[in-house]
Amino acid sequence: MYVLYLDDAGSPGNPAEQYFTLGGVCVYEAQIDWFSRELDKLAMPFDPNPEDIEFHASTIFSRREHPWKALTIDDARGILKSVLRVAACAYDTTRIFACAIHKASFPNADPVELAFEDLCQRFDQFLARRRRQGDQQRGMIVLDRTTRETSLQKLSREFRKRGTRWGSLNHIADTPFFVDSKASRLVQVADHIAYAVFRRFNSGDAQYLDIICSRFDEADGIVHGLSHRHADKTTCMCPGCLSRRLAGGRAADRPGS
Ligand SMILES: [Zn+2]
Repeated sequence: MYVLYLDDAGSPGNPAEQYFTLGGVCVYEAQIDWFSRELDKLAMPFDPNPEDIEFHASTIFSRREHPWKALTIDDARGILKSVLRVAACAYDTTRIFACAIHKASFPNADPVELAFEDLCQRFDQFLARRRRQGDQQRGMIVLDRTTRETSLQKLSREFRKRGTRWGSLNHIADTPFFVDSKASRLVQVADHIAYAVFRRFNSGDAQYLDIICSRFDEADGIVHGLSHRHADKTTCMCPGCLSRRLAGGRAADRPGS
């Protein structure tokens, strides 16, 4: 079983932010423990009970709460990068997925719904590709319980029966699960990935995304795992858009193509 852990960054209704992002990490079930141990190691300097330390990217970035309050700006951002490096250095089968929605480009759509459907389809295409390569594993989606709970829970209930706008999902088992981010190190990694993508698109700060860029799902030179949804991407140099242009338009803007 492959498990895709997702979390969000940015607020769909905040007009001061241009973007809403949903992103996370897909891991093979046997590797979940490895992630937990690596994050526990990062937490050890801050608490004798490392499981009591929750890594939450925006809280670390702003140094709002204990134990991040005591850190310098550089040290706090170093923690954020260390969490991202765990994903960057993980097993080969680990894949990163993220969707950045430029909210003004879709004035009549719910950005949470757009991003969730987009990533479900990309994850399903990833599983289909693995299947063609002889890997018969199915997939499951796990979301942070606080991640836009209402709209995503509603979508989750519906998504098995109606599929997504781009077709049905054949390789994802059951409905998505919601877990408490405090209890899941993988949801905490997903939170950092969503935040790294948010910083890149909303603030033009690519130093976090750069760490994980090589781990986005990719095939035939196209970075399928990074979806940038914007009405005008003709000059966009983000890895997702650039790879599609370099591929000569083979993959217009359809997930998994
Ligand atoms: Zn782009």
